[in-house]
Amino acid sequence: SIRAPATKKATTLAVAVKCRPLTERERGRDIVRVHNDKEVLVLDPDLSKDYLDRIQNRSKERRYTFDYAFGPNSSNLDVYKRSIRSTIAGVVQGLNATVFAYGSTGSGKTYTMVGTQDDPGLMVLSLNTIFDLIEKDNSSDDFEVTCSYLEVYNEVIYDLLEKSSGHLELREDPEQGIVVAGLRSIKVNSADRILELLNLGNSRRKTESTEANATSSRSHAVLEISVIRKQQKQYPNQVIRAKLALVDLAGSERASETNSGGQKLRDGANINRSLLALANCINALGKQQKKGLAYVPYRNSKLTRILKDGLSGNSQTVMIATISPADNQYHHTVNTLKYADRAK
Ligand code: ADP
Ligand code: MG
Repeated sequence: SIRAPATKKATTLAVAVKCRPLTERERGRDIVRVHNDKEVLVLDPDLSKDYLDRIQNRSKERRYTFDYAFGPNSSNLDVYKRSIRSTIAGVVQGLNATVFAYGSTGSGKTYTMVGTQDDPGLMVLSLNTIFDLIEKDNSSDDFEVTCSYLEVYNEVIYDLLEKSSGHLELREDPEQGIVVAGLRSIKVNSADRILELLNLGNSRRKTESTEANATSSRSHAVLEISVIRKQQKQYPNQVIRAKLALVDLAGSERASETNSGGQKLRDGANINRSLLALANCINALGKQQKKGLAYVPYRNSKLTRILKDGLSGNSQTVMIATISPADNQYHHTVNTLKYADRAK
């Protein structure tokens, strides 16, 4: 559903599910079956009668419903157009927003958020829209757009726009709220070089030495885009600030195992504190949306403190749950779907 930004009062949470295609490597393995009984998921916004007949006798079939669902043939642009674009329009009007990709390692989080030259991800597409909207804006307002790109790894914040960043600290600023002290913020005038910048930043993310393929599986990358609108006519000198955080989260595999019973998430050895804290905040926001005000525990991690403005007040939050169609990822997929389902 598309909500009119101007009239909304509480944080809205939308949940999208994105299933990636099989990779070349997976396609070559015979344990991967997609179109038979082992089919782990079917994404269809209007389930066909054919399909419903076919699953009638499958007692183990679980159905989940989300605000948006995207199959292996959906491009990042498809995901963007249907689930994100209206949120970005809100940002230019002054509403904070957070978009994050949640899923196990290898499920397509980075692909969705950063993307490639041929299929630019949500970070690039969002920035594109921001500049489009600014260009089309027919008020006489001035705009300034800045970006920062940081990493939270083991509860330490690093600047991904710096070659060798030291540890950065969070500070409470009376005007701007919580800020990362010393974080580089660059002024941008177009989305042109952003993919390059993101790839460079990503190459600086901490990798896990024990898992050769699990690049950045424990680190969260946050692109924060600030849109400052300086009003000229009606309220001269008034400045409207909105922050859009686009987050490529750490792999959810450990968190979802802990959380599969639906109990409140707790810290533990090897459990990513920031991911658990965010998951708890999202659970609380989901409850708030259904039942009215609920306590949202933002203070429990670096990541949730950084994201607080974009997860509270009248901000808009979109969670993209990323999943793999491969049956060897079945348990991760189920955990992600269960989690995303509960968030609603
Ligand atoms: P994560 O960041 O969740 O660990 P990645 O984004 O790195 O996962 O994706 C894992 C693999 O799947 C990569 O090789 C990536 O290129 C591929 N992939 C993910 N999503 C898509 C997609 N929509 N289309 C094509 N390849 C994809
Ligand atoms: Mg990744």
